[in-house]
Amino acid sequence: MKYEIPFNKPFLTGKETEYIEDAVATGQLAGNGTYTQKCHDYFENKFGFNKCFLTTSCTDALEMAAILINIEPGDEVIMPAYTFVSTANAFVLRGAKIVFCDSSANNPNIDPERIESLITDKTKALVVVHYAGVACDMDKILSITEKHNLYLIEDAAQAIDSYYKGRALGSFGHFSTFSFHETKNIISGEGGMLVVNDPSYIKRAEIIWEKGTNRKAFFRGEVDKYTWVDIGSSFLPGEIIAAFLYAQLENLEQIQAKRVKLWNTYFSELKTVAETNGVHLLQMPEFATNNGHLFYLILNSEKQRTALMQHLKAENILAVFHYIGLDQSDFYKQHNNTKFNFELENSKLYTKRLLRLPLFFSLSPNEQHKVISTIKDFFS
Ligand SMILES: *Cc1c(COP(=O)(O)O)cnc(C)c1O
Repeated sequence: MKYEIPFNKPFLTGKETEYIEDAVATGQLAGNGTYTQKCHDYFENKFGFNKCFLTTSCTDALEMAAILINIEPGDEVIMPAYTFVSTANAFVLRGAKIVFCDSSANNPNIDPERIESLITDKTKALVVVHYAGVACDMDKILSITEKHNLYLIEDAAQAIDSYYKGRALGSFGHFSTFSFHETKNIISGEGGMLVVNDPSYIKRAEIIWEKGTNRKAFFRGEVDKYTWVDIGSSFLPGEIIAAFLYAQLENLEQIQAKRVKLWNTYFSELKTVAETNGVHLLQMPEFATNNGHLFYLILNSEKQRTALMQHLKAENILAVFHYIGLDQSDFYKQHNNTKFNFELENSKLYTKRLLRLPLFFSLSPNEQHKVISTIKDFFS
């Protein structure tokens, strides 16, 4: 079904096809060419990331991270239950046992106060997700990973151009991963990126990225033949994807400014109706910035959420909920018998009561006004 106001519309800057034509004209279509390099340079310069690798998805980038930290059967990886399946799957594919942690009460990010009780001598890594592009409390997170000598991986799929105390998200973890899926702020249809912040892992990341070969070192003239040296896969996207992405990057500031403006309009317009009806809006933590990725309401109950969705649907507006806590998934129930020593109650709450509103670059003032007035109408 098509909605008058859909949940998302991909934004095109207008330069995408021009750059794709350029890539086609130069005849360099495989990965790791000129446009891939331009994207890497852009990210490394703008956000202070140590080394970037475009991938075909954030999922792929997470899988690279799991290989890089040598996940073996029996290793435990701690992460929030309220996240996308790929955060967990990447590690499950390598035999890890996933240990889910609850979200915090303030927002769906992992609750740093509950992490330490989950750490055992098998824990190898902590994966944090900056939900809605809002930073986790990185000082607290880093003090835990440093104290227990754990790898830190940031699933920053939603967190492009977002900051914690002035420092870019994605620059904290040993590894971090981004998504350029068409529902994210900056897109290439499908697409992603692995950031390697610890320099001692760069060489191996190059090899895993290039199917387990030392092709990259070969082209730099460092080795005289290129051969199979490690496990790996085909993680790098072709130049057509990179050319598309580069057109988006050139417009990053314009895209972000527009999304944040839409976010702020929702917030100021819905603040009062939310307060009077016990509905929660995100209270941005002091240490975090807002990248306008996602605007959500926390309704009073699942029933109320369904009713509001229906009410919006009747006005031809699509609002959607988000994750079902992974601990409640069929797959996890079948493959794990972990007994939690507490209920993942906040994760359950977001599963049942969080609702996302339409937020995309081309959402017009009239359309946004219609969403807002339809919500006000629901509560009156
Ligand atoms: C979108 C998303 C992913 C997956 O990204 P893909 O590029 O589609 O693989 C992973 N984790 C989170 C938190 C996401 O929002």
